[in-house]
Amino acid sequence: MNVKELYNISFSGGRTSGYMTKLLLDNFSDKYDFVVTFANTGREHPKTLEFMHNCDKYFGFNTVWLEAVVHHGERVGCTHKIVTYETACRDGSVFEEVIKKYGIPNLTFQPCNREMKLNTMRSYRKSVGADSALTAIGIRADERRRINKSATDMRIEYPLIDIWPTDKQDVLDWWEDQEFDLGIEEFEGNCLGCFKKSDSKHFKQIAKDSSVYDWTERMESLYSSVGPQDGDRVFFRHHRSTKNLLAEYRAIGGSVNLSRTDPYADAGCSESCEFLPTEDFDKATGETK
Ligand code: SF4
Repeated sequence: MNVKELYNISFSGGRTSGYMTKLLLDNFSDKYDFVVTFANTGREHPKTLEFMHNCDKYFGFNTVWLEAVVHHGERVGCTHKIVTYETACRDGSVFEEVIKKYGIPNLTFQPCNREMKLNTMRSYRKSVGADSALTAIGIRADERRRINKSATDMRIEYPLIDIWPTDKQDVLDWWEDQEFDLGIEEFEGNCLGCFKKSDSKHFKQIAKDSSVYDWTERMESLYSSVGPQDGDRVFFRHHRSTKNLLAEYRAIGGSVNLSRTDPYADAGCSESCEFLPTEDFDKATGETK
C-alpha cells in the first residue's frame, strides 16, 4: 500500500488560513495525509468558532480542535487535549490557566501564543507522529513581513506565497462566492481584546461591546504580580492597564472613526494568531514595523 506523507496545516480560524486549507486539501490530498489543527484559546469570537465548524461541515477539513493543558508547578510546557466545536472553551478559562502560571502577556512577554498554539500543537503532532512533518501557515504574498526567520529550520511552508501567490483581495473575493463567511469585523479577530491590536481597534471594540474588557480587567486584578517584571504586569501597549485603556476611550468621547471597517486592514495577530508568531511589532514602542 502506498503510504502518504503526513503534512500539518495550522488553521488559525481566519479567512486566509481557511482559504489555504481548502486549496491544499483540493490539490494535494493524493500526495499527503493532512493533519489540520486549530488551537482554541477560549477567547475567540463565537463567530470564529462557528466559521471553523462550517469549514469542517461544508469543506470536510476534519479539523482537530485542541486546547492547552497547563502543568502548574512543573518546568514543562503546555500539552494538549482534544475538544470539539460543542465542548470548546468559550469563557477564557484556558487562557486564564496560562496566565496563572506564566503571567499576563503583553508586547514584551508573549507566552500566550507559545503555550496555547505552538506547544499545544506540537504536543498533539508528537502524539500522532507528525512532529517532523512539514507545516503550512496561512500568510499571504502581501504579508511577507510576517514570515518567521526560522521557518525553513522549523519545516514551515507558506503556500499562499510560494505555490499560489495570493493577496487579501483574492481571499475576500473567494469567500464572497462561498455559502458562509467569517462574519466579523477585523477588529474583532481572535483573541478578543488581544494586546497586539492598535488603539483604534480597541476603541472600536469598546464602542461595540466593552464587556470584552471585563475579562482583561479581571485578569489584571488577579494575576498582575505573576511572573518576572518591574511593577505590575498589564496587557496593553505603553504599559497601560485595561482601566487606562477604558479611561482613554472615555477621554476622547468615543470619537473613534467607526466607518473604517476594512476587514483586512493591518491583519496580524488580530485577524489570525498564527502557530508561529512573527516579530512584526517594535517591542519598545508598540508600533507595527
Ligand atoms: S491573538 Fe493575541 S492574545 Fe491571543 S494568543 Fe495570539 S498573541 Fe496571544
